[in-house]
Amino acid sequence: PLPKIQGDIRFKNVVFEYEKGRAALKGISLDVKAGQSIALVGHTGSGKSTIINLIGRFYDIKSGELTIDGQDVREVQLQSLREQIGIVLQDTFIFSGTIRDNIRFGRLDATDREVEEVAKAVDAHEFIMKLPRGYDTEVEERGSALSMGQRQLLSFARALLADPRILILDEATASIDTETEIKIQDALKILLQGRTSFIVAHRLSTIRHADKIVVLDHGEIKEEGNHAEL
Ligand code: ATP
Ligand code: MG
Repeated sequence: PLPKIQGDIRFKNVVFEYEKGRAALKGISLDVKAGQSIALVGHTGSGKSTIINLIGRFYDIKSGELTIDGQDVREVQLQSLREQIGIVLQDTFIFSGTIRDNIRFGRLDATDREVEEVAKAVDAHEFIMKLPRGYDTEVEERGSALSMGQRQLLSFARALLADPRILILDEATASIDTETEIKIQDALKILLQGRTSFIVAHRLSTIRHADKIVVLDHGEIKEEGNHAEL
């Protein structure tokens, strides 16, 4: 079995550049304890996605230190790291297949019962049961038969089933109705429980949930604190 990750993540003076001489991150220091949720906010190009890329080790840092559970990220087995990171992207990925298969993606061994349990936990069960064939309803890759909010809930169910130690979420900017918004926030609360999470946040309601808000500006941390402090 692969070594378990707890989820303590520490950036110490991290400098990173995609292109030589142009630093995308200019000395980031950030201490995240296992189980904490971090909201990353800031203008376009400020470095939010770059921070996320480094945690999944899609790139290596230029200087400074990046550790996971106190261990240099370069020394953590890549397969172990990737298996314990769950990524929910802005443009929710739905593939052609049944609702059930979409939720089970990444956990093919999951039973029907487990699939229903996570769907219920994120409050997606109700809308799924209203579809023509319930969990066996076929959906299209673009997911056009599903609303943005429903697609989001499905992606949360999928992430919950995968149960990663570290969760990365790039929040969708699309506007959704208030009722769906409340559902998504409730689902998010459940999804974040017990794991370290980094959310590129656009909604104030999401930012409020976070244990720590990090405001980025041109590759630097401009402000850091909780909702009450900022
Ligand atoms: P957004 O809100 O638009 O998603 P962001 O905060 O996620 O922005 P990053 O994508 O982290 O910003 O970009 C930080 C800086 O790095 C920007 O100057 C960007 O142009 C640059 N950058 C990002 N990705 C690459 C890449 N693959 N190659 C070269 N430069 C990049
Ligand atoms: Mg980004």
